[in-house]
Amino acid sequence: MRKVEEFFANIAAKLGEDAVNRAEETVSRYGENTMPGGSRPPLGVVYPRSTEEVQVIVRAANEFDVALYPVSTGNNIGLGSRSPVHVGQVVVDLGRHMNRIIEVNDKLGYAVVEPGVSYQTMYDELVRQGNKYMIDVTSGPPQGGVMGNALDKGAGYAPYFDHFGMSCGMEVVLGNGEILRTGDGALATGNQLNWHTSKYSYGPIIDGLFAQSNYGIVTRMGMWLMPRPPAIRSFHFTYEDDDALEEITDICRILKMSNYVPTLFRVANDLYTCGAEVVSEEFTQSGGQKSISDEGRKRLWQQFGLGSWTVSGAFYGPSMEAMDPQIQRVRDLFGRSGKARYISHEDAENINPLKVAINAFSGVPSASELGLLRWRPGGGNTWFLPGTPTDGQIANEFQKVGRAIYEKHGMDYMVMNVCAARFMRGLHVITFNREDEDECRRADACYRELSEELVRRGVFVGRAPIDYQKFHMDQTTDSFRDACSGIKNVFDPKGIIAPGRYGIGE
Ligand SMILES: Cc1cc2nc3c(=O)[nH]c(=O)nc-3n(C[C@H](O)[C@H](O)[C@H](O)COP(=O)(O)OP(=O)(O)OC[C@H]3O[C@@H](n4cnc5c(N)ncnc54)[C@H](O)[C@@H]3O)c2cc1C
Repeated sequence: MRKVEEFFANIAAKLGEDAVNRAEETVSRYGENTMPGGSRPPLGVVYPRSTEEVQVIVRAANEFDVALYPVSTGNNIGLGSRSPVHVGQVVVDLGRHMNRIIEVNDKLGYAVVEPGVSYQTMYDELVRQGNKYMIDVTSGPPQGGVMGNALDKGAGYAPYFDHFGMSCGMEVVLGNGEILRTGDGALATGNQLNWHTSKYSYGPIIDGLFAQSNYGIVTRMGMWLMPRPPAIRSFHFTYEDDDALEEITDICRILKMSNYVPTLFRVANDLYTCGAEVVSEEFTQSGGQKSISDEGRKRLWQQFGLGSWTVSGAFYGPSMEAMDPQIQRVRDLFGRSGKARYISHEDAENINPLKVAINAFSGVPSASELGLLRWRPGGGNTWFLPGTPTDGQIANEFQKVGRAIYEKHGMDYMVMNVCAARFMRGLHVITFNREDEDECRRADACYRELSEELVRRGVFVGRAPIDYQKFHMDQTTDSFRDACSGIKNVFDPKGIIAPGRYGIGE
């Protein structure tokens, strides 16, 4: 039986009164998110200072039957922010005190971080140390965390874009209260030379079990850093035709398959690029009932000098001039059909929506893209994250399906495809007025219909907001769900860590 009062009293006695906060204002702030389903206030918040204190909290949760919900920096905006997956869980805010960069290894190019290290902190520290390395950033909140993002399988845009893939070696407090160190961290001597350099050590690769799951609380993680190149030169091509997505995708595939272009491609539509800079003019006229008109879109094209789709990538080299031949090659390819307009790196520096891309390719955190949350009033924002093969025909067909569904629900089609050699992730933003019940209902219906339509075509999501984690888990096979709950029973037999996260446990 759940013994909430005993739990908080136990934590306050063992970790100090200031390790617990149950004030109404705090509980309400931690419950806030941008989802259509509303806030999810926790029972309270606890603030550990070390791995040992996390153990104390997990053991108390087991003893008093209280569910925990760990957050690192709690900036998971559009996916749940820092609110727990269910009302009544206790948020473990790791980031408040456990926010040290434990090590930056200057020779081997990796950092070891605690949960609270944000992209901004990491960037500032690397600059302070001479700007020799760059951390791969997201284009989301600079206060978002290196660890929380990697654990949610977040990604960036530069060569080290795969944040979980670039992590190496972690320390985890399991749901049963035991400490597990992965990779070479498992060596019993306590002197682990290769913990953060060797990904494939002895035995099974256990690290992956802690991404998008609820088996443990990660307290330390190694993250590889990319040497900062002397020069970064971006290129951008903009197209007016919606169907140009087909051509763009096919060119991106050619350029990525050989890794000729070292970054991922950001293939962003008009509302994704311009929507972060302005508010919707038409929202008030239609009372949020209708998607933006074609005329409205064209006004944005004129205002920003960008068309329906804009594709951005970058080269790294010894100097800007040294990259002239590479730039010429992409200009030849994208220029072949005559539909694309080239925008140079220098011009893009002065176009805000493209500056976001340059920052992302350069490992510089920036807050500009958060403007997407203001495109419609009311702060509602949820992300739908499916993907397609890097095949122009399929991508374009999905565009048509997606646009039609957004329009049916009166939402504005706001999408960026992040394009690799064989796969591209479609970042679909649904921005809505969270103060308006009808808009929340339509945003929710839009999300579900997008997913159901794409599932019929064999497409799954790669990450999900808290409102839809159970919904997506129900789209998996029985054997997958059985495997997930079987592992949960081993690592967290009483089910106290984030039950329901990613649809695992109740
Ligand atoms: C405009 C905009 C642009 C964005 N762009 C990007 C982008 O380019 N790429 C991208 O990946 N995301 C993007 N995001 C999403 C998001 O904001 C980031 O991914 C954010 O960095 C993740 O939040 P966080 O680091 O604060 O993680 P947290 O909120 O701390 O953690 C995320 C989740 O992981 C789990 N977790 C966290 N820490 C631990 C731990 N130590 N142990 C166990 N479980 C843990 C928790 O369940 C938590 O809810 C964007 C969002 C917006 C609004």
